Amino acid sequence: MRVRASLGTLDLLGLINVGVVEKPTTAYILIHSESGCMGECVFCPQSRLSRSNKDLVSRISWPEVGLEVLLNRIKENPTVGRVCIQTVIKDFFLEDVLRIVSSLNDGDVGKPISVSTTPISKEHLQQLKDLGVDALGIGFDAATPEVFKFVRKPYSWEHYLKFLNNSIDVFSPGKVYVHLIYGLGESDVDFFNSMTYFKNLGVNISLFSFTPVKGTLSSGWSRPSVIGYRKMQILRYLMDLGVDVSKYVKVRGDKLTLSRELVNEILYDVSKFYNAFITYGCPNCNRPFYNEGVRGPHYNYPSKEFILKNKDRLIGELKDLLNECE
Ligand code: SF4
Repeated sequence: MRVRASLGTLDLLGLINVGVVEKPTTAYILIHSESGCMGECVFCPQSRLSRSNKDLVSRISWPEVGLEVLLNRIKENPTVGRVCIQTVIKDFFLEDVLRIVSSLNDGDVGKPISVSTTPISKEHLQQLKDLGVDALGIGFDAATPEVFKFVRKPYSWEHYLKFLNNSIDVFSPGKVYVHLIYGLGESDVDFFNSMTYFKNLGVNISLFSFTPVKGTLSSGWSRPSVIGYRKMQILRYLMDLGVDVSKYVKVRGDKLTLSRELVNEILYDVSKFYNAFITYGCPNCNRPFYNEGVRGPHYNYPSKEFILKNKDRLIGELKDLLNECE
């Protein structure tokens, strides 16, 4: 069976040598489809409306590889902490996912498995869980129903919410990861409200920043502000710690600022807040450079070591954030 794997994954496993700067800590697999996805998401190179190369997801290239050789390498590699299977919409795509999961089991690969998918039935969710999938990713991507429609996500917001509820029932909230992309046209207030909504359901939030990719319908859109993204990372992190963030947030119209007290506290000892800025997702997921080039600006940092190499820049951004506080 042919699948795709991210360039970083193939490099980590010794199947190519491109000298990646930061190695992934998860092996990322994408089901294979010659024509990409039947979805029409404007930001996605896999979309049937995009003219992008179909080996791209976000800015990362995902070459084809045989499943068997890939799984053998994953099994032998102690630095792979998880296998993440990502899907596109095509006929019978779930059969591909089930086949990959079964092969991981049959080959005794022995790594935790995540699946990131568009809506599937509750029965199929249960089937994935019974096969040992331990975490489920849901690409809402858009933070509001309006943006969801605008960026042409498949199905409807309501359908995704139903899928989310089914996923929570089957997997439990702590094992569900909602993916949100910052910078698709929503306001900061909308984005924050959306994070609050999902956090109140008990699920995890994985943050991505919008990345313009050549050939997609949104290739001419601008990248979002890093300062705005830092705000959302900080709020997500504090919400995960169970902090009542409402006392740190000021809302005026659709503008959102953080309190000076909070940003000063972060600047006082930024090392205590590194985890706010490091990629957040399933355990062991670091998605190096999924949204940014190595030289930055860095939205998600793949590791603490990478923050340390770029600490001055992060502090500069946090000082800019302080300047916009009231
Ligand atoms: S459904 Fe997923 S893979 Fe398909 S076009 Fe949308 S974002 Fe891309």
